[in-house]
Amino acid sequence: MKPADALIIGAGPAGLFTAIHCKGRKVIVLEKNAVPGKKLLISGTGRCNLTHDCKLSDFFDHYGANHRFLKTALHGFTNFDLIRFFEDHGMETVVDKNGKVFPASQKASDVLAVLINVCNKNRVEINCYQQIEEIKKTESGFEVKAGSGVFISRFLVITTGGMSYPVTGSTGDGYHFAKLLGHSIVPPKPSLSPVFIRDYTMASISGVSVQNKMVYLYRGDKKIMEHSGDIGFTHKGLSGPGILDFSRNILSNDILKVNFIELKSDDFRNELIKVSEKEGKTAIQTYLKKFDLPRSLVLLILKSINIEPETRLAEITKIQRNQLVAAFCEFPFTVEKVGGFNMAMVTAGGVNLEEVNPKTMESKLVPGLYFAGEVLDIDGDTGGYNLQAAFSMGWLVGQGISQSDKG
Ligand SMILES: Cc1cc2nc3c(=O)[nH]c(=O)nc-3n(C[C@H](O)[C@H](O)[C@H](O)COP(=O)(O)OP(=O)(O)OC[C@H]3O[C@@H](n4cnc5c(N)ncnc54)[C@H](O)[C@@H]3O)c2cc1C
Repeated sequence: MKPADALIIGAGPAGLFTAIHCKGRKVIVLEKNAVPGKKLLISGTGRCNLTHDCKLSDFFDHYGANHRFLKTALHGFTNFDLIRFFEDHGMETVVDKNGKVFPASQKASDVLAVLINVCNKNRVEINCYQQIEEIKKTESGFEVKAGSGVFISRFLVITTGGMSYPVTGSTGDGYHFAKLLGHSIVPPKPSLSPVFIRDYTMASISGVSVQNKMVYLYRGDKKIMEHSGDIGFTHKGLSGPGILDFSRNILSNDILKVNFIELKSDDFRNELIKVSEKEGKTAIQTYLKKFDLPRSLVLLILKSINIEPETRLAEITKIQRNQLVAAFCEFPFTVEKVGGFNMAMVTAGGVNLEEVNPKTMESKLVPGLYFAGEVLDIDGDTGGYNLQAAFSMGWLVGQGISQSDKG
C-alpha cells in the first residue's frame, strides 16, 4: 500500500494547482492518461487563455446561476494572483484587446510546464497510466485501487473534469466516484458549444464573423433571453463567443434571432422611410454599407428575402421594407441541436454544489473528500473564466488540506 496525506485524482489544471498548494503534505496525483494536462494543452487553440484581465467583481457574471459558489475561491485567489503566480515562475503573460490573458509565448505548453515544474519542486508525485478501479472510504481516510497498486490517504480530491472533449481524458469518471461516495450529480450537458441550424443558408460564408451582435432566444413564440457577443458562421451553424457563452441556455427547436445592425426594428423602419425619401436613387446594398457588415453576409440576407442588391431605395415596397427590417433586426435561425460533448468546451452540470462547502470545497457528506474544477456543477463563459475557476478552486482545496491539523 502506498500512503499519502492527499490523493488527487486527475492531473488537469485543477488537480495540479491543488497539488501545488497542499504545502507540507505528501501528495500523490493519479492520472489515467500517459501525460498530465491534455486538455490544458489544447485550450485557447493551443495558446491557453488562462484568465481575464478585469475587476474581480466582473467575474461573477460569467458563471451562470451558480456563480455565488465561487465567491471564496475567486476572492482568495484572484486573476491577478494567478498572473503573479505564473510571472513569479518565469512565465510572462499578455492581455489581448478583449481582456483575455495568454502566456506571452502564446503556448499552452508553457503553462503546463510551469505547473509541472512547481509540482516537481514541491515533491508532488504525479503517477500517470493510473486507471482507478475502486475507491473506498475507510475509518482513517480513503483507499484507492489504481493501475499500479493500492493508495491510502487521509484526504481525497476529485479533479477529473467534466465530459467535454472526452479524447483528453475527461470522460465523466468523477461523477461515478462522487456517486459511489454518496454525492448526487446534476445531469451533465454540453456547454460552450456551437449550434447546428436547421435549413441553414449561410454555409457559403463559413469562417466569416460579425462583432458584438445581439441574439434573442425564442422558445415557441416567447422571447426568453437575450445575449450579445461576436458570432461566427460555420459550415452547419453558428459559433463564436456570442453563441458559445449562450449555449448552456439553448435547446433543439429554439429560435435564435440575430440583430445584425444596432437599430431596433421601429428605428430601422423609420430610417428606411426617411432615407428612401432623401436618397431614393441609392442602391440598397450601398446604403447598407453604413452598418459595416461583411458584404457576403449582406448579400445572403438580401437573397433570403428575394431583394436584388441593386434595388434603389425609392423602389422598395412596404412589404419589402418590412422584410428588410425582419431580416436585419431579427434574422431567425432555428436550432437543430446544440453540439455534443465532442465539440463542447465545457460541461454544465456535475457534482451537486449543495453538497460541497464553497468556503473550503470539502464535501458536506464525506469529511476529507474535496472537489475542484469542472467536475463540479459550475461552468464559465469563454474568456479565461473556466481556467481561472479551476485554479482558484484548486488553490482553495490546497489551503484547506495544508492548514488542517496533521492528524
Ligand atoms: C478545446 C477547448 C479549449 C478550451 N480553452 C479554454 C481557454 O482558453 N480558457 C479557459 O478558461 N478554458 C478553456 N477550456 C476549458 C478548460 O480547459 C477546462 O474548463 C479545464 O481544463 C478544466 O480543468 P479540470 O482540471 O477541472 O479538468 P480537466 O482539464 O478536464 O482535467 C481532468 C483530468 O482528470 C483526468 N481524469 C479523468 N478521469 C480520470 C480517472 N478516472 N482517473 C485518473 N485521472 C482521470 C483526465 O485525464 C484529465 O487529465 C477549453 C476547453 C476545451 C475543450
